[in-house]
Amino acid sequence: MQRFDVIILGGGLVGLTLAIALGRHGVQCAVVDPAEPAATMAPGFDGRVSAISSASWKLFEAIGVAPHLAGKACPIDRIWVSEGLTGSALDFAPDPDDGAMGFMVENRELRRAIDAAAQAADGITRFQPDKAADVVRDAYGVTVRLASGAEIGASLLVGAEGRGSPTRALARIPVATWAYPQTALVTAIDHEIPHGNTAYEIFYSGGPFALLPMLPGTRSAIVWTVPNRQAPAMRKLTGRAWLAEAEKRMGTFLGKISLAAPMQSYPLGYHRAARIVDERLALVGDAAHAIHPIAGQGVNLGYRDAAALAEVIVEGMRNGLEPGDAQLLARYQRWRALDSLSVTIMMDGLVRLFDVPGWPASLARRLGLSAVQRLGPLKERFMAEARGESGPRPRLLLGESI
Ligand SMILES: Cc1cc2nc3c(=O)[nH]c(=O)nc-3n(C[C@H](O)[C@H](O)[C@H](O)COP(=O)(O)OP(=O)(O)OC[C@H]3O[C@@H](n4cnc5c(N)ncnc54)[C@H](O)[C@@H]3O)c2cc1C
Repeated sequence: MQRFDVIILGGGLVGLTLAIALGRHGVQCAVVDPAEPAATMAPGFDGRVSAISSASWKLFEAIGVAPHLAGKACPIDRIWVSEGLTGSALDFAPDPDDGAMGFMVENRELRRAIDAAAQAADGITRFQPDKAADVVRDAYGVTVRLASGAEIGASLLVGAEGRGSPTRALARIPVATWAYPQTALVTAIDHEIPHGNTAYEIFYSGGPFALLPMLPGTRSAIVWTVPNRQAPAMRKLTGRAWLAEAEKRMGTFLGKISLAAPMQSYPLGYHRAARIVDERLALVGDAAHAIHPIAGQGVNLGYRDAAALAEVIVEGMRNGLEPGDAQLLARYQRWRALDSLSVTIMMDGLVRLFDVPGWPASLARRLGLSAVQRLGPLKERFMAEARGESGPRPRLLLGESI
């Protein structure tokens, strides 16, 4: 049996990042994932873009992912939030000295960068494509028999398999879950007028319409949330008809627009595990919680998990404890529980607030936006959330070494 310190089931955006953070500190990790790495980086596999908060970017700098994204990320210098095209808006534009609020990155580039950093890192053994056929967790450790026949053992198992985590289900961890009656349609457009590194979030009852700057210049990603009942018809729209519908939502402030990518659609749901640890087990990323992409916080929440878990494990091992020690897992649970609860509640609240139809609700929202725009401290609080700078942050998210 091959032995490791930690076995991570799921080598996606969060799982593989955790392995890099641990590997850099001498923690031996096995990463198991049924997906062929080349397939996950191929065009068309994942057409989304992610808003990586400035705190998550510091993690990327600290663990060597950021250099692989040079020239492939667009700084977010401004965020514009409005209720339809009414003119009531919140305009977040920090001091240039404070740096960008985050970076927009195509998920394909993100996957490539994390893969390249993992290849360069020490201490990571990838079993990919492969999957766990049998998992035994007990007081003495973790043993995983893989579908390929290999047997691996470790002190700690990490579930990072995304929304449908089989590890979470096997551990019988209760999950609060619901589906939003909404679908996200994701594509990209070219436009005549440069976006000025601005992310636009235009709210409609039925779902927000987001325009996210891709590389500096005149290309933006669109995340268009529509009610499920409208999604099949929207998916069928092509060419001019689609552009005309898009212009109804975004107006003409970016000039003439044209489609720049095929459309992909994603059902939207919420879930939150009642706890994120069990005997010799920790959950990270979407395996622990998944939220509406309304404010682009999902993967950032996962990076906060990864940074906190890495810090807890590395410090624990320095003090003679093994990674699966119950005291370390209890510390991870305490650290992450409150932060992930407050972010998931806040995002769900935003979805519901902006989904209430009718003019009285719309008027209330417009007044609310104007009030926040005028109130400095409240606006600062929203900007800190967008940057991922709220709450007690793990050292990696401050750009420091563990
Ligand atoms: C439309 C949309 C837009 C979004 N935009 C943003 C954004 O702008 N910013 C943001 O922060 N977040 C965004 N998100 C959320 C973000 O994409 C997720 O939070 C993120 O992908 C979670 O990463 P993860 O590694 O936890 O899970 P995943 O990315 O789902 O990775 C899971 C991995 O586990 C593997 N796996 C599956 N089954 C098994 C198994 N049995 N054993 C082992 N491995 C397994 C998979 O192959 C995969 O590699 C968005 C989500 C959607 C739907």
